[in-house]
Amino acid sequence: KEVLLEVKNLKKYFKINKGFIRKDVRYVQAVDDVSFKIYKGETLGLVGESGCGKSTTGRTLIRLYEPTGGEIIFDGAEIGGMSEQELKPFRKRIQMIFQDPYASLNTRMTVGDIIGEPLDIHNLASGEARQKRIYELLERVGLSKMHASRYPHEFSGGQRQRIGIARALAVNPDFIICDEPISALDVSIQAQVVNMLEDLQNDFGLTYLFIAHDLSMVKHISDRIGVMYLGKLVELSDSKNLYEKPLHPYTQALLSAIPIPDPEVTRQKQRIILEGDVPSPINPPSGCRFRTRCIYAMDVCAEIEPEFKEVEPDHFVACHLMDQKK
Ligand code: SF4
Ligand code: MG
Repeated sequence: KEVLLEVKNLKKYFKINKGFIRKDVRYVQAVDDVSFKIYKGETLGLVGESGCGKSTTGRTLIRLYEPTGGEIIFDGAEIGGMSEQELKPFRKRIQMIFQDPYASLNTRMTVGDIIGEPLDIHNLASGEARQKRIYELLERVGLSKMHASRYPHEFSGGQRQRIGIARALAVNPDFIICDEPISALDVSIQAQVVNMLEDLQNDFGLTYLFIAHDLSMVKHISDRIGVMYLGKLVELSDSKNLYEKPLHPYTQALLSAIPIPDPEVTRQKQRIILEGDVPSPINPPSGCRFRTRCIYAMDVCAEIEPEFKEVEPDHFVACHLMDQKK
């Protein structure tokens, strides 16, 4: 397995200034010390409740946000600290698909120009070649060249997401960050988009980071899955193992909340209800950030932050219960 992207101790803090008094400056610890790898050609799912830092992680990887700390190593190059000029070739190789394609598409541009814009930015094609490429991309995502002269508002949500995907594909990227690409779509459309993303992955050898708020949405597309809670990665494993043998109490709770469609899965069926709200990422709990909602919380959980450790091959967990098992 070849690593395409490695994230080491990534941090993204946002400054918030509540009043005019300078000492009121505080920080939202949106992503705090997150490390993982993404292998070439795979899909890594990233899940967690809203505000857990999954989208911020995606946006920081593509440098839409400046990282506060840590390293982002893409195909051997540390891109986290690069200047905009140095980043340019990487901007072509890493693309993003957004949750709300309508908000991310320029509504005053034709679909053809929306898809052609990345070609212009990177000087990849002009004139007839550009036109041809736009038509090709439209057809590749199940639309037609007739659509090139239309505007985003003339399309359904699912079609707009296809336009967003065509735009991302225009520059022949290696890696696409899919930020909740199906969350806003009707259930009937979701599977179509997921299937299309999988076909495109196979045809073009793409690597995906697939962000979702719900484990059921990433199940089919992900080779491996990472679970985030309050800015931390708490568990990371191959999908099958994560579904059948979740080790972190938070993952167990998330999984127990989704119905089991497959009767052969002998997962513990007891439903774990998560008590209380997600605490504020401005002032997260000491020790383990999940402890205020964890049914297994012990004294040590308030004092020491559990290390994100490989507890079995390719299965990482951050929980003090893992130490007790040995
Ligand atoms: Fe629960 Fe403690 Fe494990 Fe955190 S470290 S998940 S509080 S048992
Ligand atoms: Mg796949």
